[in-house]
Amino acid sequence: MRTASAGASSSAQRERAHESRLRRFEIKRSAENQERFARRNVLGFRVGGEVRRSSLLVLLSVFALLAVSLPALAGKREELEKKLPPKFRKSPYSLMSLTVGHPNDGFQLRAKRLKSSKYVRVRSSKHAYGHPALILMLKRTAKQIGRYAHGSRLLVGDISAKNGGHLSGHASHQSGRDADIAFYQLDSKGRPIDAKRMVAFDGNGKAKDGSGLEFDTYRNWLLVKSWVDDTRAGLSHVFVSTPLRKRLLDFARHDKRYKSYVSKAAVLLKQPANSSAHDDHFHVRISCPKRQKEICKEQSKRRADGDEG
Ligand SMILES: [Zn+2]
Repeated sequence: MRTASAGASSSAQRERAHESRLRRFEIKRSAENQERFARRNVLGFRVGGEVRRSSLLVLLSVFALLAVSLPALAGKREELEKKLPPKFRKSPYSLMSLTVGHPNDGFQLRAKRLKSSKYVRVRSSKHAYGHPALILMLKRTAKQIGRYAHGSRLLVGDISAKNGGHLSGHASHQSGRDADIAFYQLDSKGRPIDAKRMVAFDGNGKAKDGSGLEFDTYRNWLLVKSWVDDTRAGLSHVFVSTPLRKRLLDFARHDKRYKSYVSKAAVLLKQPANSSAHDDHFHVRISCPKRQKEICKEQSKRRADGDEG
């Protein structure tokens, strides 16, 4: 009996102890909940659950990142402004798009971005910044050919980075005056297609990669003709491989409509010495804008490793 009663009392004690532990636990939980609730309200959100709290954290880190990177970007521009002669740091130059230095050693400020449209396909929007004269010219010529040879869309490769400077894969393209343009192409059955990529062609107009694609001499000539006609942009030259240059000029020479353009086109089209062949794209370059001759250098800096491309 004594053992039984002692056992009974100890089990009652255990139960009471358990109850009191439970109560303490409940009190603690409710205190924690209140605290958590208060914390949420401090932030001004009535969010619940881990998921929302973690998305809030993501949001906060994005803000933090922006707060750090925006001044850094503005800082880069300010840093570049300091390289300019005092005159060019003031109005009206401080409001203009400026192209500074050589095509292969320079930078740009307040450049214009070329965007994809009905007539233009931009391959990399991060590398589609250039001087407005160049960007507007590309838009004009693309539109002209898109209307004339119905449905044509110009594939534009790299122009320059937002502030210019070195661009991976190129020696030039540093000051917003250079742009790479894919050739218009025909499929293996001779039908005009939208260029999806840059394709290298030989002098007979056949794709070098064996894809069966062909150089669309007619549309590519229309492009060259529109560049010859376009006097607003101040186009200085168009790089293209010697065999394709010959192909284009031969085409024009044998067509009454285009004959008169041949001599001007011959001056504009050239294969740069000391550089890659340009057999998979036109590389166009505009001259320095008239009012920026003091800061803009027409020619590439001489370098041992070739200077165009
Ligand atoms: Zn290029």
